Amino acid sequence: MTTSKRSYHITTFGCQMNKADSERMAGVLEDMGFEFAADPNQADLILYNTCTIRDNAEQKVYSYLGRQAKRKHEKPDLTLIVAGCVAQQEGEALLRRVPELDLVMGPQHANRLKDLLQQVFDGNQVVATEAVHIMEDITKPRRDSSVSAWVNVIYGCNERCTYCVVPNVRGVEQSRTPEAIRAEIEELGRQGYKEITLLGQNIDAYGRDLPGTTPEGRHLHTFTDLLYFVHDVPGIERIRFATSHPRYFTERLIRACAELPKICKHFHIPFQSGDNEVLKRMARGYTHEKYRRIIETIRTYMPDAAISADAIVGFPGETEAQFENTLKLVEDIGFDILNTAAYSPRPGTPAALWEEQISEEVKSDRLQRLNHLVAIKAAERSQRYLGRIEQVLVEEQNPKDGNQVMGRTDGNRLTFFQGDINELKGQIVNVKITEVRAFSLTGELIPVAQSVARLKVG
Ligand code: SF4
Repeated sequence: MTTSKRSYHITTFGCQMNKADSERMAGVLEDMGFEFAADPNQADLILYNTCTIRDNAEQKVYSYLGRQAKRKHEKPDLTLIVAGCVAQQEGEALLRRVPELDLVMGPQHANRLKDLLQQVFDGNQVVATEAVHIMEDITKPRRDSSVSAWVNVIYGCNERCTYCVVPNVRGVEQSRTPEAIRAEIEELGRQGYKEITLLGQNIDAYGRDLPGTTPEGRHLHTFTDLLYFVHDVPGIERIRFATSHPRYFTERLIRACAELPKICKHFHIPFQSGDNEVLKRMARGYTHEKYRRIIETIRTYMPDAAISADAIVGFPGETEAQFENTLKLVEDIGFDILNTAAYSPRPGTPAALWEEQISEEVKSDRLQRLNHLVAIKAAERSQRYLGRIEQVLVEEQNPKDGNQVMGRTDGNRLTFFQGDINELKGQIVNVKITEVRAFSLTGELIPVAQSVARLKVG
């Protein structure tokens, strides 16, 4: 007798951390015999991996969840799970709000999905939100890409930025050991992955919680040491990392990035505001002068480095003059990409309770003005690529044009060119850039023989 396999669907909201967690949880489910279903309405198990950074992502979860809860009345064996940051924040309250839920699990419990599901299949409604020591990950993620993979190096965050829920929902910093991280990357190299992105909410905090110090009193395992430790893994050709914190970003790290050829010359360093008073009230622990010095140092070592960042407008109490300091910083630095957001008060954070909240009109006006400047500066930054030969790691076919493939330059610019994905996927090729836009490039593939000749002449 054959029994059909049960199927699952995961919907992920939010940051790269959540995407990495979703891949791990998909790996667990497939290990348990579940099959991926592209259509959530056909799946026997639905998992929402949620984000609480913005209110609209949170609202979306509730509306999706409402629909699936209704479906459960017709299909009682449907398993409904909410994971991630909303789950952590709401805990039991979620079960009261949506009694059809089977499992509510915080991000620290991602590795325990199998055990938790066992409890559900035994007939329990389960809430797993208590702080845990994250066990070394033995699950194999089901990775969405076969070219580029995420590797967690540190979970949680010990900072207390006054707008951020992450420390409440993801707990204190827990670094993985360098050996475990290297073993995971070696396995990825053997499987044919070409690029990895090392992940942490505050990746510069890596190693602070691991034992040991150097004779000079420095932590034995810093993030810079980790880069030296993993940079030569066979098969892996590119290494990226996120997210950096200006408070802890060191010149030693910049030197390592300049020195190690596999580290991509792209830095994502959120500054959040260009005004010192606002930065202080955000509890970020640096000034705009320090931020500028970091970028200057990066550009001294690597003049062509791509710089991206995150910024928030309309933080409680932000005056027009303070907002203009953010514009000034953006004008002066010229980011390749800047992710911008209007401040949104998150429950459980100090800034949400402050009285001087900025009106939605002012926030959206500032956001528009900032985005306008960002697009101008990004277009200016793109100009430098015109006519250049860039090395592009080919990832996918262009979904809008079957004759084109797409990939990224070392500086993380999305690049399109004519080519066959079956031949090119996972290869790093030379592409001559013929067209530039603010956030992407178009080019022509340079055949290998020509590339070699050019290198010899050059
Ligand atoms: S560093 Fe600040 S913004 Fe980043 S996760 Fe930690 S508390 Fe949140």
